[in-house]
Formats: sequence, C-alpha cells, structure tokens
Amino acid sequence: MKLCRFNNNRLGVVDLGNGVVADVTTALERVRVARGYPLPRQDALIASLPAVRSAVRTALKSARRLQLSRVKLLPPVANPGKIVGAPINYLDHVAEASSDQGLAHGRDMAGATIARWGMFLKATSSLVGPSEGVTLRTPHTDIENRNDHELELVAVIGKRGTRIGRHEALSYVAGYCIGLDMTLRGPQFPDFRKSIDTYAVLGPWMVTADEFGDPADVQMRLTVNGEMRQKASTASMVYDLPKLIEFTSAYYTLEPGDLIYTGTPAGVGPVKPGDIIEAHIDRIGAMQVPVR
Ligand code: MN
Repeated sequence: MKLCRFNNNRLGVVDLGNGVVADVTTALERVRVARGYPLPRQDALIASLPAVRSAVRTALKSARRLQLSRVKLLPPVANPGKIVGAPINYLDHVAEASSDQGLAHGRDMAGATIARWGMFLKATSSLVGPSEGVTLRTPHTDIENRNDHELELVAVIGKRGTRIGRHEALSYVAGYCIGLDMTLRGPQFPDFRKSIDTYAVLGPWMVTADEFGDPADVQMRLTVNGEMRQKASTASMVYDLPKLIEFTSAYYTLEPGDLIYTGTPAGVGPVKPGDIIEAHIDRIGAMQVPVR
C-alpha cells in the first residue's frame, strides 16, 4: 500500500497504474491521539498504522479519486520524533568527498566510517514534502554557500525499539520513502548544515514494508533539470539497513515515525533556484522537487 498525505492534510492511497489518489481521510479517525500535555515523542499516524490500514481498506470502497498529478504531496510522516542520517554510507561518495574540498572542508576522510563518525540528526523542523520544495538559504557570511542534493532511501520506523539486533531489524520498519538530505557544504557542524528549513525532503508517499519487500538491492537515480546526477543501488551501502538500525538503536531508542536517511551514493552536487530535482527509487516511484 502506498500511503500519502496531500492537499490540506488529507490521507490518500496512491494507485500508480491509474494515476489517481483515493481520499481515505476518514481512516484518520482511527489514529489514537494522546490528549493533554505532554504528547508522546512519536508520529501518531505511524503508531496507529495497523488500525488505520484496516480502516483504509474499508474506506477505499467508496473513496473519491483525484488525479495524482494535481494534488499537493506533503511529507508522508508529519511528526517524526527524530530524523537520523547516515553519513559516508557509499564508498563512491566517500571517494568523491576525499578528492573534493568543496565536500570535505578539511575533514579527514581517511578511515572515515560510521563506526567512527556515528550518525547525525536533522531537525524535524527541516521536514517538507515534494510539493513544498526546497528554499535555499544563502546567508551573508565569509563562507561560500554551496547547497547539494543527496538522494537517499528512507526507512520509517514502525514500532518502539532499543538495542535492536540486525536479524530482527527490518521488522521495525513500517515503510519506505524517497528522501533528499539537502546539505549546505562548509565547516559548520553537520546537524547545523543539514537542518535548515526545507532541507529534509520526504515523499512522495510511504510504501508499506510488506509491499516494498527487501531493501537490500533497490535501484535509485536523481536528475537535476533532466541531467543525470546520481544512479546507484542500495546494494552498494557500506552499512545495510539492518546494520544501520542495529547501530542507531544501540544509542537511541527508536519510536514510531522516526526516520532513517540511509546515506547517499556518489554524484552529489549543487542546486540553484529554479532547478527541478527529480528523484526516483524503484518500488516507490518518483517525485519532482522545485528549488527556490
Ligand atoms: Mn546524506
């Protein structure tokens, strides 16, 4: 099942074959929303997903259908508690960073591994859907502003877990999305550079884990204004998704709705206002993201 959020926070099921979205917003009545302060640090829709999916199946029978190309796609997960990112998870990207100070900015890439560097976090306030697009920030500093696209498969965590072993790791995944880990290059801390408003693009919908299947060898590609920039398979990851979940949950308790950006392959590069990024991942689909 391909679940999307669209227009004014409506819930939809995407039917790619017919190019339509079925409006199943009534199923949101099954989302268990905590009453009173404080709210749990999780996404309520993802935490309620089994009940919501059963209501979605009922709602589909009489759902209004809209043209997919005409709806505004919002991030499929509205309120992730945290967004965790994998750095340097494709060797060809490590290689391009090693030979380009515009990427490395003095960081020592020799022996760079996730085991040494760890993961990084992106602020949840940076999250947008494809329809909102990326708005570049170019503040006046003495540092040159270079803003790059990074195409990544994103796993949406479905249930709470900590110290998760790799053999059970995929059972903690609710679904998969396409992510753009937009990045300001520079000497600043990664969490600062990667948390700018609109710099975490998530879309175009979430493919549930049962439909998506094994994430071990999935093709992806990214173009800017039609020009191919990134093309790879998730089979080239240094830490595959089970290992990323095992590693991350050794430090952080994962909650429903948490997002794991799994790292980018080679071909990252700058974008400028007016560019159109198109990102494609097999078994998910494609999304167009305008840069402003
Ligand atoms: Mn990245």
